[in-house]
Amino acid sequence: MPLKRLYVAERIAVGKELHLGDEAARYLGRVLRLRAGDDVQVFNGEDGEWSATIAKFRRDRVTIAVQDFVREAEKAALRIHLVQGVSRGERMDFVVQKATELGVDRITPALTDHGVVKLDAKRAAKRRQHWQRVAQSACEQSGRVRPPEVDAPLPLNDWFGAERDSATTDLILAPDAGTRFANVDTPSAGLRLLVGPEGGFSEREYDDADVAGFRPVSLGPRILRTETAALAAMAIAQGLWGDL
Ligand code: SAH
Repeated sequence: MPLKRLYVAERIAVGKELHLGDEAARYLGRVLRLRAGDDVQVFNGEDGEWSATIAKFRRDRVTIAVQDFVREAEKAALRIHLVQGVSRGERMDFVVQKATELGVDRITPALTDHGVVKLDAKRAAKRRQHWQRVAQSACEQSGRVRPPEVDAPLPLNDWFGAERDSATTDLILAPDAGTRFANVDTPSAGLRLLVGPEGGFSEREYDDADVAGFRPVSLGPRILRTETAALAAMAIAQGLWGDL
């Protein structure tokens, strides 16, 4: 039977009791089908993972007694920062979920010139929380301890303005590029990967990426949907340089 795992956003320690609210109660009861007395593993993404027992269970509240330390949060063999042009609802959820399974370290949702999704500040904050939850449940399911950081969505332009991390290997997925992943040197300080939304990048964005030192790479002769492109690129990068 696969391990039942729960992400909690607080400090965990041996002997501690965790008092959790209705969201955790619903997840443990309805999704994992656990009851008082059952075992569960808890992790918080910072320190690691512990075995625990459900001490008390009510419809809207649950108490978990932490027992033994199981393992530390894993260290990524290759740090991948995915800067993803925001696409429509379920496509973006799919990217966040699958990229988490494939070991992404950080996701920045970027609003682009040809993107169809427009977000005001309030909706942007809500979308971010939603994507953080998607990433957490992908961790629960995949055995991963440390959820990726998910940034608040921001215009790609602003992101270029704010980021000056030149030690990383910076690539932009561009269907017309002459370079393939296999031609890129092994990243020595992590990888930043820019993926366009459904409508692709604008000329201005390709220019900005060029100025910021992003090298265009191709995934071959077929145009892939944005979510396919992001995941194919992650799988290739993890296969060539990471732990896949
Ligand atoms: N009509 C758009 C296609 C967008 S596909 C265009 O011509 O750009 C969405 C995104 O997926 C693209 O912006 C690119 O980042 C990535 N992508 C799709 N197919 C690709 C390929 N064969 N090589 C590299 N990137 C690709």
